Amino acid sequence: MTTNATTVPAYAAPAAGAPLERTTIPRRPVGEHDVMIDIKFAGICHSDIHQARDGWGTGIYPMVPGHEIAGIVTEVGPGVTRFEAGDRVGVGCLVDSCRTCDNCAAGLEQYCTGGSVGTYNALGKDGEPTYGGYSSHIVVDERFTVRIPEGIALDEAAPLLCAGITLYSPLRHWKAGPGKKVAVVGLGGLGHMGVKIAHALGAEVTVLSQSLRKEADGLKLGADHYYATSDESVFEELAGTFDLIVSTVSAPLPLDRYLGLLRTDGAFVNVGAPEEPVSLNLFSVIGGRKTLAGSGIGGLPETQEMLDFCAEHGLGAEIEVISADRINEAYERVLASDVRYRFVIDTSTI
Ligand SMILES: [Zn+2]
Ligand SMILES: [Zn+2]
Repeated sequence: MTTNATTVPAYAAPAAGAPLERTTIPRRPVGEHDVMIDIKFAGICHSDIHQARDGWGTGIYPMVPGHEIAGIVTEVGPGVTRFEAGDRVGVGCLVDSCRTCDNCAAGLEQYCTGGSVGTYNALGKDGEPTYGGYSSHIVVDERFTVRIPEGIALDEAAPLLCAGITLYSPLRHWKAGPGKKVAVVGLGGLGHMGVKIAHALGAEVTVLSQSLRKEADGLKLGADHYYATSDESVFEELAGTFDLIVSTVSAPLPLDRYLGLLRTDGAFVNVGAPEEPVSLNLFSVIGGRKTLAGSGIGGLPETQEMLDFCAEHGLGAEIEVISADRINEAYERVLASDVRYRFVIDTSTI
């Protein structure tokens, strides 16, 4: 057991909006219930960029982003029961929570009301800043560590820890499956996993994208239909069609029009959100008893269920693996929607 903090290499934003650069950070000693993970791959999530640039005004610097972590356990604390050295594991958006509120008790740690701790850009219960996956190692409590089954390559698994679970959770909650018509709005890092998972769950899947630019990809990923929402007639053609629509976009959408695409009792679920408040006409949900909802990542039990499901169905993310010195370039490409569909950092290059 490591009794002293270790210093490990990482890539950090030294200040809000500054390019990321190589540095070193401390990792806490391996505690009673901790595992030390040799990080192999870390996905680049859109929110990494947002936080590195202090988009929410809550940045703690230097900031080491990364909450799509896949690696190998190298060391475990004496109280660890579920993992041993050599295990393939992942860490997502959370590294701690209150563990006692109703939501934590129900395995919905993402909705912890007593204070959950983000994998980076947060303060741990020890008062120290948390540092994310753009580094060589991380120490995490086993409760917030999940197992990556052999069926998924670690690089393709990394994005499942945020993008995968963000889509899996609402698809499961609103019962995407055989006989259900599901639409995914936006075909990016989140949306492409939504298409794969909804298809594997047995739903009839439609992509609603701004243009037909990625249509061939969408169909290959498992979509049955693909429509460009820039074509106004689509909203008439598809009116009353879907049981479930999951929106992954952060641009403000004309909600009344999208709610018109739902059938009776259908749900429109946001996993992406614009920064500004939105408005809608409530008659859009009154007629047809529709639901407008949101969903955020997933709890630890469901994240494990998602990884097991993806392994069983041979699902991983579509990725472009990069070396760490290309992180800043990758950020620009993500902002320009120039990635199909997730950048993953080979952390051996940090
Ligand atoms: Zn994320
Ligand atoms: Zn809690």
